[in-house]
Amino acid sequence: MIPNLSPEDEIVNLPKVVNRIREQLSTPFEIFKNIIHISGSVGISIYPRDGSSAEELLISADHAMYYAKESGKNTFRFFQPEMNRAIEQQQVLESSLREAVHSKAFTLHYQPQVNLKDGSVAVEALIRCQHPSLRKLSPAVFIPVAEQCGLIDDIGNWVIQQACADLADFIQDGSKISKVSVNISPHQFKRHNLTEIIRNNLQQYQLEASRLVVEITENVILDNYNSAREHLQELRDLGVSIAIDDFGTGYSSLTYLKQLPIDTLKIDQQFVQGLPDNSDDVYIVKAIAGLASGMELTLLAEGAESEAQLAFIRDELGCHLVQGFIISRPLDIQALKASEFYR
Ligand code: C2E
Ligand code: MG
Ligand code: MG
Repeated sequence: MIPNLSPEDEIVNLPKVVNRIREQLSTPFEIFKNIIHISGSVGISIYPRDGSSAEELLISADHAMYYAKESGKNTFRFFQPEMNRAIEQQQVLESSLREAVHSKAFTLHYQPQVNLKDGSVAVEALIRCQHPSLRKLSPAVFIPVAEQCGLIDDIGNWVIQQACADLADFIQDGSKISKVSVNISPHQFKRHNLTEIIRNNLQQYQLEASRLVVEITENVILDNYNSAREHLQELRDLGVSIAIDDFGTGYSSLTYLKQLPIDTLKIDQQFVQGLPDNSDDVYIVKAIAGLASGMELTLLAEGAESEAQLAFIRDELGCHLVQGFIISRPLDIQALKASEFYR
């Protein structure tokens, strides 16, 4: 606690104090002959503006620290009133997610991925939540919350199991759907037992590993290259295929493409949606197609919505695998079974 601050201290001196604390924290130290480096994220709250009691001030500082961590760690943030609102929304989301996990209120929708050349069909499993306050939310919103509050393992394991069960059912039923893709979130990917879980489910539902595709984003690899490589190799040894989702939107170096066992690049929908008129997007998708063909990777275009986009993907890009609203929206099981993609 720093007493009797003036407005000028707040701007000039507080950051200096915080930086001194961070410098102290970042001095490496030794434990059992290992050099340990740590860093600190600092949240700052000011009396009486950000709270009238020690308890309130600590809560505000805690919220600000959370934001400092979110902004890349090893930095500091002053508390802002909007942080409270955002954190309240986050808490509502979290408790709804907990209820949803408890009452098993999830389903999978499946979006066809069609091969324009031979008509074969795979599907991507996309989770939906039936909890009243989450029903309208995209998993792009609630999956990151599940990651933060430790629910992703429960949810992710359920997705793998349900996708395997459904695919086994499709095959048994004589469907032409041959493969299912499952999205694996960063935290889920880091778990050391992911391969084990996948292996067990493949066994339980008597599925060949080549029928399962694991979709990860580039950032998953960037987060921890060495363990990502080990995990990918384990999955590959099992026989599962690996697709890089949202390709082109991450920040990783392209070196990983030749060093890691990757099968498919999924061109991110933001580039596809600019086709055929946006010249930047045209260059980007052509570069991605060049990479895929040079490195003998399968190419899939995601998010095609119009005939013009579909024509460009097929004729200009020479890409035969397409997923997007122009082919089909994600469908619930009943709609999938009634669709032209099923038989
Ligand atoms: P994604 O894996 O890139 O999935 C594609 C998303 O794009 C889906 O959104 C799909 O509905 C949408 N999409 C497909 N075609 C089109 C199109 O032509 N136009 C437009 N505008 N959108 C299209 P959805 O289902 O809301 O999922 C969003 C994201 O949430 C997914 O992006 C994925 O990152 C994540 N997600 C979904 N299901 C799961 C899951 O089971 N586990 C994990 N970890 N993440 C999931
Ligand atoms: Mg995906
Ligand atoms: Mg994607």
